[in-house]
Amino acid sequence: MVYFIGIAQRQFIRTILSINKTRAYFYIVFLKRYLRRHSLCFLFLRLAQELRAEVTFLDLIIFERMKLSVYVLKSEHSFDSAHFLANYEGKCRQIHGHRWRVIIEIMSATLNTGEQLDGMIVDFSKLKKDLKEEVDCFDHVLIIEKGSLKPSTLTALIEEDFRVVEVDFRPTAERFSKYFYDRMTQKGYRVKSATVYETPTNSASYEEDPHGAV
Ligand SMILES: [Zn+2]
Repeated sequence: MVYFIGIAQRQFIRTILSINKTRAYFYIVFLKRYLRRHSLCFLFLRLAQELRAEVTFLDLIIFERMKLSVYVLKSEHSFDSAHFLANYEGKCRQIHGHRWRVIIEIMSATLNTGEQLDGMIVDFSKLKKDLKEEVDCFDHVLIIEKGSLKPSTLTALIEEDFRVVEVDFRPTAERFSKYFYDRMTQKGYRVKSATVYETPTNSASYEEDPHGAV
């Protein structure tokens, strides 16, 4: 048997196998897209044996059935705020406002079992609340990229009681999509994508491993 997986990758699978088998599964699917050699089940079993991970026959059946199947939840929230793009030649250099729509998609190959959350990835109300928490920080504020205003201007705005939120990135829809992707990931969600609409017809999305897990 020849393995086409490097030591670092095996170490990574070992770690995630010990934490969460679903994540291990996603990672192996991702690898398999590139290897295109063995069946997922076979590859998983060989890796599990090599790593001495406890994988039951039932796990294998579940993993095999999970092939490229995933549940996706979507939730949306919006905020109104002003921003400007420093060092930009054009009208976006001026302070202007948007209604930003943030759409988050989370995914899981399995659903919860048990009473309250049976048949769910997560309770929609929890997902909605967690997204709202992140989004509401930017509602009715002036978003400023750090260092893009003179300190005296920033001080004057704050002294006028304007709500100002500084971010360490250029406040574009693209940057915000990665920002919300990361924030929801930090909250423990397996995020499929984060999309931010700056206008009703213009949006940016951020995904990782778009050809791997789904
Ligand atoms: Zn804008």
